[in-house]
Amino acid sequence: MKIAVLAERAEGETRVAVSPETVGKLKALGADVVIEAGAGARSRFTDEAFAAAGAEMLADRVAVVAGAEVVLGVRRPEAAALAGAAPGALVIGAMDPYGNEPAIKALADAGVTAIAMEFMPRITRAQVMDILSSQANLAGYQGVIEAAAAFGRAFPMMMTAAGTVRPAKVFVMGAGVAGLQAIATARRLGGVVTANDVRPAAKEQVESLGGKFIAVEDDEFRQAETSGGYAKEMSAEYKQKQAALTASHIAKQDIVITTALIPGRPAPRLISAQMVETMAPGSVIVDLAAERGGNCELTVPGEIIEHRGVTIIGHRNFPGRLPTSASQLYARNLLAFLETLIGKETRALAVNWDDELVKATVLTRDGAIVHPNIRLEPA
Ligand code: NAD
Repeated sequence: MKIAVLAERAEGETRVAVSPETVGKLKALGADVVIEAGAGARSRFTDEAFAAAGAEMLADRVAVVAGAEVVLGVRRPEAAALAGAAPGALVIGAMDPYGNEPAIKALADAGVTAIAMEFMPRITRAQVMDILSSQANLAGYQGVIEAAAAFGRAFPMMMTAAGTVRPAKVFVMGAGVAGLQAIATARRLGGVVTANDVRPAAKEQVESLGGKFIAVEDDEFRQAETSGGYAKEMSAEYKQKQAALTASHIAKQDIVITTALIPGRPAPRLISAQMVETMAPGSVIVDLAAERGGNCELTVPGEIIEHRGVTIIGHRNFPGRLPTSASQLYARNLLAFLETLIGKETRALAVNWDDELVKATVLTRDGAIVHPNIRLEPA
């Protein structure tokens, strides 16, 4: 069984889908691991380290993929890059299918089995395979680090002989995995932290980290969580009430970290240009949702801008700014999933197509799109 790993081609992508540690473990499962030379360079994994773990390093992409039964990636590869893979090869990574349906169709046409790791069910058994959590956790941390670096003042309260520095006021919008890590990180740095979310369950979690919860807590809020634990789109009326509360709160903040996402939809707009203009010069907004369009109206995805003295950081790939940690965790997520797909005795692929993890993540099979949520034509 050959497992191929290509270097990531997407602009700004620094991560890689395997680490020397996981290569060793894949070998132990019976796989031959072939990696494109230089694939780990930006994560500080050298070709030598991969080779020492048992991988074959090849410069030629076509040779890397040739005959592979599994192709691992961080981002969805181009269908053309998969030519020569074994028929029905499992292509595993973050497929980002919404809005990219034609690219998914191209993978179906290429005859590969595309598996979207971001669709992994959020159940206990699959926690170890949850790329959204492993990467969002790092993004939340990194967002605060970048805010602290761009902020012209200290985070903690400091009482010095030369006078007192007041602590930074940090507001975290969205208290999922990234938001909770942002709260914890900002608290560790000594900030005074508030946070909001549309999911009622988030309140207790924010408070358990020492943050103060800020939200309009009406009936709609109390019923706002979907059965999967995700946020759902709120009514126009709720959004208006929330915006008013947010507006008055934001005006008093030094740092705002936004993390709000709704699966399959553009990021909700939470901060208007007007709200930004109420913030004091020197304030910083870090928009972790920039890649999905941004939570702030003024965010420019991929850029750091300044608007009337307020810095707005809109990097597209926050976990990729911690490439070694991000790749290490991502690689372990993939390894854990692969362990369920490989027979222990046979040391060959043995996919159970009825397994709920497989059913939830397989997008294409036998030349067709098979996932119920992915349609070529909008519904
Ligand atoms: P996400 O990345 O989809 O969204 C980030 C946060 O933004 C969410 O908390 C969401 O409620 C919030 N949000 C959406 N719209 C908002 C708005 N208008 N204003 C403020 N906040 C808004 O979320 P996530 O981090 O992937 O977590 C989603 C859920 O999954 C959470 O309930 C989390 O606890 C749960 N989860 C479960 C597991 C597991 O059981 N294995 C693992 C990870 C996460």
